[in-house]
Amino acid sequence: MNLEITPELAEVRSALRKFTREQLEPIALEIDKLGAIPERAWHLMRDAGYLGMQLPVEYGGGGFDMTTYCLALEEFSRSSRVFTMLLDYTSGLAPLGISRAGTPEQKARYLPKLATGEWKAAFGLTEPGAGSDSAAISTSARRVEGGWVLNGKKHYISGGNIADVVMVVTVTDAQKRARGGISTFLVDKGTPGFVVTRTDTTIGSDAIKLGELTFEDCFVPDNALLGELGGGFKIAMGSLTSGRLGVSCSCIGAADRMLEMAIGHAKERNTFGKPLADRQAIQWMIADSALEIQLARSLTYETLRRAQAGDDIGTSASMCKLYCSEMVGRVADRSVQIHGGMALMRGFNLERFYRDIRHYRIGEGTSEVHRMLIARDLLK
Ligand SMILES: Cc1cc2nc3c(=O)[nH]c(=O)nc-3n(C[C@H](O)[C@H](O)[C@H](O)COP(=O)(O)OP(=O)(O)OC[C@H]3O[C@@H](n4cnc5c(N)ncnc54)[C@H](O)[C@@H]3O)c2cc1C
Repeated sequence: MNLEITPELAEVRSALRKFTREQLEPIALEIDKLGAIPERAWHLMRDAGYLGMQLPVEYGGGGFDMTTYCLALEEFSRSSRVFTMLLDYTSGLAPLGISRAGTPEQKARYLPKLATGEWKAAFGLTEPGAGSDSAAISTSARRVEGGWVLNGKKHYISGGNIADVVMVVTVTDAQKRARGGISTFLVDKGTPGFVVTRTDTTIGSDAIKLGELTFEDCFVPDNALLGELGGGFKIAMGSLTSGRLGVSCSCIGAADRMLEMAIGHAKERNTFGKPLADRQAIQWMIADSALEIQLARSLTYETLRRAQAGDDIGTSASMCKLYCSEMVGRVADRSVQIHGGMALMRGFNLERFYRDIRHYRIGEGTSEVHRMLIARDLLK
C-alpha cells in the first residue's frame, strides 16, 4: 500500500508548487550568484508560513506532520536546495530534536523564535576525527557545579556560521559512548568559549555555508542538556532518520525538475534536421530517468506511510536515502548530457542543480554507510 495523498495534502502540495514556481524559482539563480541568502528569501518563506512548518502549533509552528514536511521539501528542491535548508534551519534536524526531546522551558525558549526564522538552529555532530563513524566523536562535556564544560571541535556544520543555537552532540561518559555515554546540549551563539573558527563554502548551494565550531572550556548550565543524560545518540539518530526521508524527497524534487528541463530541451533542439526527442538514444535516457524517479517516489512515499503508521523505519529510511541520492546523480548526469555544452555554462539553471545535488550522497550518511546499515540489519 502506498501513501494516500488526501485532498488536504494535495491542496498543500499544489499551493507549494505554485509558491515555489512563482516566488522562489525566479530568485534561485540570483542566490547562487550571490553566494548568500538574501533577506528577501527569508521574508518570502516566512510570509507564506513555511518556516517552522514541522514545529508544534502551540509554539508558533505550522503543526504539519513529517509527510507534509517531506513533500514540501520535494517542492522546494524543484527550485533550489537552498530553500530546503531554510526549512532545515527552522524546522529540520536540530529544531526537530528540540521539539521531540526538549523540556517545556527549552521549547518555549527556542521553538517560537525558530518558527518565525528569527533564530536559526544547527545540528552539530560531525568532527574532524568522526564523520561516518559518528559514535567516535571526541567533543566532551565534563560535569562541574551547576552545569557542564564542553571542549572539542565540530566541522562541516550546515548553517553553523549563522546559527543562534547549536545542538551539540558530546561524550559525557567515555566508557559507555554510544551506549549511554553520549549527551546532547543546546549551546547559544555568544556563549563564552564557543567560537565559529572557520566557514567553508562547498561546490553547490554556495549560499549555505558550513561552520567549524570550537568549544574551549565552554560552560553551559544544567538546563542546556537536551533530553536525558546519555540519551544524546538516540536523539541525534532519531532526527537523522527523519532527515533521511527529507533528503530523499529533496532528491526526488530536484530530479523531477531536471527531467522536465531535459524533456523541454529535447523537444526544442534540432540536430541533423530533427529534434533530439526523436532520437532513441535520447528517449532512453529520458525513460530511464522517469522510471528511476517513479521508483524513488514509490519507495519513499511507502516509507513515509509506514512512518506515519508508527513502524520502525530505520533501515527503510537508509534504503530511501541511498537510492534517492544515487538516483538524482544519474538523472542530473543524463539531463546534462541531453543539453550538451550549454549545461556546463555558469549561470545556467541545470549547471547549478548539477553542483547542488552532489552533496546528497555524502551528507546525512554516505552511500557506503547506508549500504553498511542495510546489510547489518539483514545479516543480524
Ligand atoms: C554539504 C555538507 C553539509 C553537512 N552538514 C552537516 C551538519 O549540518 N551537521 C553535521 O553534523 N555534519 C554535517 N556534514 C558532515 C557529513 O555528515 C559528513 O561529511 C559525512 O557523514 C561523511 O563523513 P566524512 O566527511 O568525515 O567522511 P569519512 O567518514 O572520512 O568517509 C570518507 C569516505 O569513506 C567511506 N567510508 C567510511 N567508512 C567506511 C566503511 N566502514 N566502509 C566503507 N566505506 C567507508 C565514506 O562513505 C566516504 O566515502 C555535512 C557534510 C556536507 C558535505
